[in-house]
Amino acid sequence: MRPIFTPELVNGPFGDPCLVLDFKFEGRALLFDLGDIAALAPRKILRLTDVFVSHAHMDHFVGFDRLLRVCLGRDTAVRLYGPPGFIERVAHKLSAYSWNLVHNYPTDFTLVVHELDGERLHAARFRCHARFAREPLPERAAPGGLLLDEDAFRVRAAALDHDITCLAFAFEEKTHVNVWKNRLAEMGLPTGPWLNELKRAVMQGAPDDAPQRAWWRDRDGLHERIFPLGELKARVLELVPGEKLCYATDVLYSAENERRLAALAADADQLYIECVFLEKDAGHAARKFHLTARQAGRIARAARARQVVPFHFSPRYAEREAELRAELEQARGG
Ligand SMILES: [Zn+2]
Repeated sequence: MRPIFTPELVNGPFGDPCLVLDFKFEGRALLFDLGDIAALAPRKILRLTDVFVSHAHMDHFVGFDRLLRVCLGRDTAVRLYGPPGFIERVAHKLSAYSWNLVHNYPTDFTLVVHELDGERLHAARFRCHARFAREPLPERAAPGGLLLDEDAFRVRAAALDHDITCLAFAFEEKTHVNVWKNRLAEMGLPTGPWLNELKRAVMQGAPDDAPQRAWWRDRDGLHERIFPLGELKARVLELVPGEKLCYATDVLYSAENERRLAALAADADQLYIECVFLEKDAGHAARKFHLTARQAGRIARAARARQVVPFHFSPRYAEREAELRAELEQARGG
């Protein structure tokens, strides 16, 4: 089934950066950046399976304690992802507390923490029953910054320069293959494992004239009918393209950052991008390694993003939000 997700900036455009992707029908959510999450209801925090942290500046990571507080004592696991040095930071956060009693808890809340180092992903585990001591996990390859690859979607990261390394993230749904069950019935074909074989052939791009086997077992034994793949595709399948969402914040405006970010966000359906300052304060923005609204607009344009959602506005523009948005839109279109 198509995962239907709703993105929401937990603290609005002025507060700590936090974007939650809630897959309501699957009881699951992803979080991009872990700033203050007091506004996120505990039942939503408990849905988080994967949390992506761009970097460890406080406004992006201070919500770690809240996450831990809500999840501790639960029979759950959360995966975290961050830039180089991230595992060590999580270990330090955890070592700030006394854990003398938690090994007796009936549940074993577990954090699995990853850090992206070039195209390698280092990992470690911290378990409640092990008093949150660091347990090394095998590292693996992360080609193109690939952090998570599931049947329904993948998440990739790009390393950007924010004086320190800062990660931007792309969430990409894969193409969905839906089966019209009524049309199957009209063709006299039952459902069964052969449909997975059919879907796989389509996802792997097999040619339309490739023979595809429909098979099933009943009291009379094994039945099979062979069709050209293209015929099954046309008659019983529906291909739905997936959506792409990109999250980018805390970026110095440089040619290299623009190139990397535009590549990561290429053709995104939704681009969440920081617009911290107005262009007239570009000198200040550069000193703080942040984007102006105009620079963000240029990057969005280079990426051909369809919808752009600005955030991480500096509080100095509390009364001038419209100017930030207008500057972004102008740079996108003009
Ligand atoms: Zn920030």
